[in-house]
Amino acid sequence: MKRELPGVWISVLMAVSLCTAAQAQPGRYDRMSMEEKVAASRNFHEHRAEAVEGFRILGNLYYVGAKDLASYLIVTPEGHILIDTGVSEMGSLIRENIEALGFRMSDIRYILASHAHFDHIQGHAVMQRLTGAQVLVMEGDADAMEAGQDLSPLGFEGWEPVKVDRRLHDGDTVELGGTVLTATLAAGHTQGCTSWSLRTIDGGKFFNVTIFGCNGPNDGVQLVNNPRFPTLIEDTMRGFDNLAKLQPDIYLTGHPEQPFDGIIDMMRTQTRPHPLLQQQPWQEMIADRRAAIETRVAQERAALTER
Ligand SMILES: [Zn+2]
Repeated sequence: MKRELPGVWISVLMAVSLCTAAQAQPGRYDRMSMEEKVAASRNFHEHRAEAVEGFRILGNLYYVGAKDLASYLIVTPEGHILIDTGVSEMGSLIRENIEALGFRMSDIRYILASHAHFDHIQGHAVMQRLTGAQVLVMEGDADAMEAGQDLSPLGFEGWEPVKVDRRLHDGDTVELGGTVLTATLAAGHTQGCTSWSLRTIDGGKFFNVTIFGCNGPNDGVQLVNNPRFPTLIEDTMRGFDNLAKLQPDIYLTGHPEQPFDGIIDMMRTQTRPHPLLQQQPWQEMIADRRAAIETRVAQERAALTER
């Protein structure tokens, strides 16, 4: 007797064959052992997502995130802008921080992202529902945001799919209530990794601030001919060129535990000169990171020619 494939299996097979090339290729996460995956997830969802009280960083820029997963709030007379939402369970912490600082969730007009990795945007969908704000995402990360999947070379945890209201490109701006945020594309870590720059007034002085979105590709990610991101090396180097053109007085990162260590109380008490003015100069930091990636590329190419 001829056995027929049940309809349900035909749909499953069709769905699998429709997967994009990026999804079909294993990422860095797929090569980790179960123990490594569990340890990595716990580090993000437990240690890094620990609650901290929000505070004003300077000017109209506030910290409303967790211990080592950033969320930044920019307040204006016409509404507010939220950059990054951390892991999904941080929603109530971010809300408490925003309200304790005297602001309203319903005044958030835009939700922006540093990049489409779970530890920065897993809370986007819930924040979008809570606030009714528009979600703006760099083109290179927009498909991942909408799919709810990490399509970067890392391929880590996914998230609830997010409706992207506007796709951004390098140099695009978001303006609200007299504040202008400029998006700088520095792909590599993900396909649409974005640094956000603004000018703020603090104590009568102007400060250029950049919220740095990208550290270069994750450790352990294959750089040469990465099947999930074939133009990874060129895009990463172009990203460093773009970042080197910025001239922030102060920069902030997506994982602030280390950079805030020892100065968080000074920031809470609004100590001036601002303690973040003492950090490694921007140009030097970008040059160091670029050199680290160039070394990795050279090592990979050398290993390939030895084979
Ligand atoms: Zn990341």
